[in-house]
Amino acid sequence: MKHVYYTSPFVPPVWIAAHGLKPCLMNVSARDTGTGTSPGECPYARAVINQASRRDDSLFVLTATCDQMRRAAEWLSLEFEQRRGKDEKAKDPYDLDSPVFLLNVPATWHSAARDRYRAELARLGRFLVRKGGRSPDASDLRESLRSGRLQLHVPHTDPVGVRTTAVPLAVVGGPLMEEHAELYRVIERNGGSVALNGSEGCERSQVTPGDASEFVRDPLGMLTALYFDSIGDAFRRPDSGLARWLVPRIEQRSIRGVVFYAYTWCDLWRAQYVSLAEAVKLPSLLLELGGEERLSAGTITRIQAFMESLR
Ligand code: SF4
Repeated sequence: MKHVYYTSPFVPPVWIAAHGLKPCLMNVSARDTGTGTSPGECPYARAVINQASRRDDSLFVLTATCDQMRRAAEWLSLEFEQRRGKDEKAKDPYDLDSPVFLLNVPATWHSAARDRYRAELARLGRFLVRKGGRSPDASDLRESLRSGRLQLHVPHTDPVGVRTTAVPLAVVGGPLMEEHAELYRVIERNGGSVALNGSEGCERSQVTPGDASEFVRDPLGMLTALYFDSIGDAFRRPDSGLARWLVPRIEQRSIRGVVFYAYTWCDLWRAQYVSLAEAVKLPSLLLELGGEERLSAGTITRIQAFMESLR
């Protein structure tokens, strides 16, 4: 069965599974940044490119949710074309033979944008069929909803657990490379507990399982409602969905401080910090993460100092 790798919570794994293909969450690691990034390049996007380009026999679904990922999809397509020996002048990142699919997820929330997301899922379905998947019938849809995952879940971003004596904190940011989940442990070693997890792939981007009969009746309608209508993210405009998700949970869980993080050159999450820090009205810290395989001493010291100030 062909593997289809994806990274974003806006890619419904259940839709891939319904086409008889295997959805695989890409476990992005700082080791994959390789010799490092070029100036202006997000280390996470670079790690996605490097990891994907080693998998010759797979398909990839990336999302046009930021310029860096859009560029990563083009880069990856060109890389595969080069391997196929395509003439330099004939190379085209949008070639139909490419194993890379770029899912356009509109930033806005209005009804035309919803229709566009729905149309993009249909286009993804056609891509999957062209690449060896099958057009799903009712039993494929039922089966994929029963056995498949509805959402992205990144196991390495699971916090260790909530200790009652610790200072409850929220962690908020985009995708997190495997090694950088160490930031949860550093918080916990310094007297905090991650009581609200706003990293990508954690509770912020979870969707509620749907009704199988609705999925069979109108799969694209249900997926649009589950994913497009409910997941707040830094690229969405207006970006109030993130604050709407964060602020009530902060109150419910008596959160006392918020740790934000953003990768170097990630303008989206860096910009988001300003408005979210204002909205939560709590002590907050912004960490900048690079492509290093361990958290830097500077990052660890900043977490320690932040925790000290909250105790
Ligand atoms: S970390 Fe930021 S810049 Fe990098 S891929 Fe994600 S959203 Fe884009």
